[in-house]
Amino acid sequence: MLQVKNIQCGYKDIVAVHDLSFEAAGGEVFALIGANGAGKTTTIMALAGHIVPMRGSIIVEGHDISSGRAQGRLAHGIALVPEGRRVFPDLSVENNLTVGGHTVGREALRSNRENAYQIFPRLAERRTQLAGSLSGGEQQMLAIARAMMASPRILLVDELSLGLMPKMVDECYQVVDTLKQQGLLIILVEQSTQRALEVADQVAVLESGYLAWHGSGESARSDSSVVSAYLGN
Ligand code: ATP
Repeated sequence: MLQVKNIQCGYKDIVAVHDLSFEAAGGEVFALIGANGAGKTTTIMALAGHIVPMRGSIIVEGHDISSGRAQGRLAHGIALVPEGRRVFPDLSVENNLTVGGHTVGREALRSNRENAYQIFPRLAERRTQLAGSLSGGEQQMLAIARAMMASPRILLVDELSLGLMPKMVDECYQVVDTLKQQGLLIILVEQSTQRALEVADQVAVLESGYLAWHGSGESARSDSSVVSAYLGN
């Protein structure tokens, strides 16, 4: 579904990600992990079209989208759950979902909303509540649900668990599992590697902008040298 070939990305004359390549399929969780400043967000921003790679290509279902911008990404089935959630605080839960579904037709909007409320019963209970008054964990759920409203096939999630209480982290990871079962490819950026590792089908470790390790989730979980070198926490 997604092929990333030798991308180099950054900001003006700063190169933050060097020569990164990987492939991932629908129904997979691809965990991108690494320390502060390793290049995780830069990679996600390139996939989301907010940064155009200086070199290399991003190919989705055979289409080269490397030079495309963020607005066009939904047409290629890519939706972003940005770091820090960024829900619309003055809109209700339901209206946040409606905004998320602005690119789909009326019928898809209705069925995506029902799907979202089924996956997130907590949001269904709070559909008229202003998003700004939700807890951090509920806002994260809303951010995921809003991204799902556009019927994406690839979901980019930047820092799923940042700042959430353990119970909310559990719930968010259960949702990731459900979306994976629904056939989505989920690209997950996490600083807290432990949880990401548990669900990942593939793991890529970035170190100072370079791919330091890449393998299956299973090999990352079972190889103690990888765990101690890169995934210590
Ligand atoms: P964190 O976990 O702290 O968010 P990260 O792995 O997501 O880190 P990036 O945010 O991708 O890392 O940053 C990679 C490098 O790019 C860092 O050296 C950072 O200082 C630099 N960088 C990030 N954003 C910008 C920007 N807007 N302008 C210039 N340099 C930037």
